Amino acid sequence: KTFAQLGLPEELLRALADAGIDKPFPIQSATIPDALAGRDVLGRAQTGSGKTLAFGLAMLARLDGGKARPKRPRALVLVPTRELAMQVADSLTPLAKAMGLWCRTAVGGMAFGRQADALSRGVDLLIATPGRLSDHVRQGTAHLGDCNFIALDEADQMADMGFMPQVREILDLTPQGGQRLLFSATLDGDVNKLVKQYLADPVTHSV
Ligand code: AMP
Repeated sequence: KTFAQLGLPEELLRALADAGIDKPFPIQSATIPDALAGRDVLGRAQTGSGKTLAFGLAMLARLDGGKARPKRPRALVLVPTRELAMQVADSLTPLAKAMGLWCRTAVGGMAFGRQADALSRGVDLLIATPGRLSDHVRQGTAHLGDCNFIALDEADQMADMGFMPQVREILDLTPQGGQRLLFSATLDGDVNKLVKQYLADPVTHSV
């Protein structure tokens, strides 16, 4: 299958072609149609499988364009580390731009004030680590009430690093009934509990 056959909009197809990405990886073919249909998705996939574009393309397509610049994020990607956040931002920013959408990051180890300023200028898709995002929420510099699309990337890693309390705190501030996409290399223990509590009738794909 091609990206077009997965049901992605023209703007994203052109941006993918510009980036030299011409054929979907298996995790993308498997999960994108379900995600576009609005289902919660549970993806068992390793780093390098192409999971970033699997959730990223689906979320950007569902955000359907930036009409006015919205102040509050409508989509959120939670990742365990700053390094991964930067990689995800590098992959998704050009695609977001193609859709007229704003992508920003909120990660630890970088100036809080500058992030807060950036957030106050408006954001569609926020890519964040749990600790720093939870700080922003407490300071009132991030508001999650409009986050109807959430991706949890490397959920097992977030559990191993002790981030589950912050992840739950964050999810509890987002709309119930929002769409959730969870990717993890393993699905036991804490990850399984998170799935049971926060995903609604998810479709599972293992790659
Ligand atoms: P990820 O598993 O999301 O970290 O992706 C691993 C690498 O594969 C990244 O460098 C992506 O840019 C690249 N990639 C993801 N999907 C595709 C694709 N469909 N075709 C070619 N490269 C891809």
